[in-house]
Amino acid sequence: MNVDDIISYHQLISAERVMIQKGMNFGIGKEYSVLLMSQRTNAPYEDVVDKTTGILMYEGHDQPRTKDCPNPKEVDQPLTTPKGSWTENGKFFRAAMDFRTGLRERAELVKVYEKIAVGVWCYKGFFELLDAHFSLLDGKRKVFKFFLKPVEKKSFGRITELPHTRIIPTEVKVHVWKRDHGKCVECGSQKNLHYDHDIPYSKGGSSLSAKNVRILCAKCNIGKSDKIMGVLPWLVAISGSISGINRHL
Ligand SMILES: [Zn+2]
Repeated sequence: MNVDDIISYHQLISAERVMIQKGMNFGIGKEYSVLLMSQRTNAPYEDVVDKTTGILMYEGHDQPRTKDCPNPKEVDQPLTTPKGSWTENGKFFRAAMDFRTGLRERAELVKVYEKIAVGVWCYKGFFELLDAHFSLLDGKRKVFKFFLKPVEKKSFGRITELPHTRIIPTEVKVHVWKRDHGKCVECGSQKNLHYDHDIPYSKGGSSLSAKNVRILCAKCNIGKSDKIMGVLPWLVAISGSISGINRHL
């Protein structure tokens, strides 16, 4: 799967080969964890991406709603279960503390998926879990905040920094999804979609403006690169004739 691929919930589950029934999934991929996030207005948690640093601030999760806990939004988020084992909050919190104190050399790698619309998800890429806080919300209840930095996973497990301007913000994705009616803008397909940069990021195209982002299917994306490659022989011919002219001068 590539960053900015648009997938269904079913595809998300088959990609990770587990039943993800909750948003926080520590260590499920052996080499990484998985977080599901949503910045939609009716989302249950406040997940925010800092616009100047690209750091994702992910909110921990509440107690499950039970007979004993009818209003999870009124009690502290749990670090451990009633039986004493770590909750997902606890597992992520411990990993962040271990990294901060130097107990672990590398930060926990986390794959992030974000919700775009009902049943529609987008793969946001890899992040590193740098830090976590357990703070008072509105002076009342304790909630977790996890701090994650966007990174790129290269071959041989090498991790490099990812410029945060490369990331397409959620609000741009949601806007483009509605504007393009959830379909490939070239052929109307609703399969194998992804968010495409009209002008590629590597060529200076922006990720931050909806004007440079559109929905394309995989087939039309290949067609797009064919078009770019098709220009190449023509460019080579031109530069050849220019150097030919130069020789004559
Ligand atoms: Zn298409």
